[in-house]
Amino acid sequence: MTPADLEFDQRHIWHPYTSMIQPLPTYAVESAQGVLLNLADGRQLIDGMSSWWAAIHGYNHPQLNQAAIEQIGKMSHVMFGGITHPAAIALSKQLVAITPEGLECVFLADSGSVAVEVSLKMAMQYWQARGEKRQKLLTLRHGYHGDTFGAMAVCDPQNSMHSLYQGYLPEHLFAPAPQCRFDGEWHAEDIAPFVALLKEHEKDIAAVILEPVVQGAGGMRIYHPEYLRQVRKLCDETGILMIADEIATGFGRTGKLFACEHAGIAPDILCLGKALTGGYMTLSATLTTREVANVISNGEAGCFMHGPTFMGNPLACAVASASLSLLAENRWPQQVAAIEEQLNAELAPLKLHPAVADVRVLGAIGVVEMRQPVEMAHLQQHFVAQGVWIRPFGKLIYLMPPYVITPEQLRQLTQAVASALQQLY
Ligand code: PMP
Repeated sequence: MTPADLEFDQRHIWHPYTSMIQPLPTYAVESAQGVLLNLADGRQLIDGMSSWWAAIHGYNHPQLNQAAIEQIGKMSHVMFGGITHPAAIALSKQLVAITPEGLECVFLADSGSVAVEVSLKMAMQYWQARGEKRQKLLTLRHGYHGDTFGAMAVCDPQNSMHSLYQGYLPEHLFAPAPQCRFDGEWHAEDIAPFVALLKEHEKDIAAVILEPVVQGAGGMRIYHPEYLRQVRKLCDETGILMIADEIATGFGRTGKLFACEHAGIAPDILCLGKALTGGYMTLSATLTTREVANVISNGEAGCFMHGPTFMGNPLACAVASASLSLLAENRWPQQVAAIEEQLNAELAPLKLHPAVADVRVLGAIGVVEMRQPVEMAHLQQHFVAQGVWIRPFGKLIYLMPPYVITPEQLRQLTQAVASALQQLY
């Protein structure tokens, strides 16, 4: 990679949430192996991000590589309209088997945001088929569900893009974010505003959508599972559908295979993505119950109205299936528990730092919330100099490493966070 390549990148390529006039620095990665990112300039970084919750088994994994190679020798892609293939069938069998009970109809699409769009469209079509015009969604402040229009409309109205896209986005209902902490006491008043909103708009609400237990990109907030149980109960009582967005939390990240398991509940619709392919490529799945699928299919359209070009992409399905087989070997519970224990031990002391507002840990997620927003480029430079890849946002410095990280590597990540606090604050 030459300096001219990097210059081209800066001048011509958009990066996520980045200005084309004053782009933030980017680091060129040439290859990755296990938990290590190999930079073009020869440096190696320990990955603390799993490429945004996705690379749970680490990079360049022999079994995932093998699955991709085998599939590519057969076909990378074939249309899903009127055609099916073994990779989609194998993956869907696995998904139906491991997801919470009752979810048995699988819609395979391109990305997390599209999975959310699909879930919202399912809810809309469900009510239309039942002869009711329900157009509202009830959700939580500090939520994040993706960057497409339907998904954006249910992201936190304050720290997301609502003001920017005002007039383009449908207006939905937002309850305050849950306050009771995951491991704290449950107080019934935590859910009172949610109940009040639901009751007030009961006949207009098609679905509740939320991220179970961990609100990710909207603030890395970790809340009490009782909240979820209560939401499930309210949805049962009123017939409102419950959509669980487990795009970030799915596949073991929170210490359970799915975060809904912390509450022992099953949603009516479940969105999965990110770690679905072990971080190899983009793929999502939206699962629903036979009942919801039947109602939709008996509606005016006679079908669910969505069918992306790359639906059920065989290459992505084959790798996803191999990733689920790795999870089925069942090493992840012990790996995630060990990461949780170490994150707790090594991040908790940072609470004492005056610039730190809070430290919280669940599963393989460690969060240090600062009192003030961080200066991302500056902090990032510090982390790279320490040999680690950590990308903070807003007030949050957080770690979610691949499950295969060693205790020494994890220690380097937590030490880099501690040294950043010491040296920069
Ligand atoms: N839902 C949640 C909970 C997410 O964390 C994300 C991605 N950060 C999405 C949806 C959107 O997924 P994608 O970026 O794959 O479109």
